[in-house]
Amino acid sequence: MTDDAIARREELLTVFHENRKCTLCSLSEGRTQVVFGSGNANADLMFVGEAPGAEEDRQGLPFVGRSGAMLTSMLSDVGISRDDVFIANTIKCRPPDNRDPAPAEIETCQPWLFEQIRLIEPRVVATLGNFSTRLLTGNQTGITKVHGVPQVQRLGSRTVRLMPLFHPAAALRATGTRDLLAADLAKLPGLISQERPVAAEVGEA
Ligand code: URA
Repeated sequence: MTDDAIARREELLTVFHENRKCTLCSLSEGRTQVVFGSGNANADLMFVGEAPGAEEDRQGLPFVGRSGAMLTSMLSDVGISRDDVFIANTIKCRPPDNRDPAPAEIETCQPWLFEQIRLIEPRVVATLGNFSTRLLTGNQTGITKVHGVPQVQRLGSRTVRLMPLFHPAAALRATGTRDLLAADLAKLPGLISQERPVAAEVGEA
């Protein structure tokens, strides 16, 4: 690992310790713990889901419930190991009764996600579902229309290839969606092997 990667990993650890104490919104009152994210802190590929569910809140880790098992298995089908990627969520604390994240909660939590992207420095960010896709594309168009088509995006201080994907929970509910997610996931190895994009390419595929 390069000195730069070691320094970024140490800073990510510092951010993790700060995030664990976060009380910036009222979700802090109902959570068991903050679900910061997990995986390879120097990953080329980072996933961004929606919000922790009950099991994630209990374990403090993202995607450890049924959606997580689906994601892990579908990643393995395209030759990607969960150990090689970093997985985070749009918001880091479980909303009560698994309700949708509120716009104010997403906005308040966004700096944590952008710090993760800055410090992990992924080439590719795959968004899972509508919440992370809308936030990181800066566009309200839903996942049904934009899935599977990569776009170069500036996320804070980093330029990445962003790949919008269906959420694994949607793939659990409908086999048609599962097939679409599988086809989109199969594009990720090729995307990771492309050159890191530069800011001038923002908006391109
Ligand atoms: N769904 C998400 O979006 N994130 C998780 O961590 C688990 C389920």
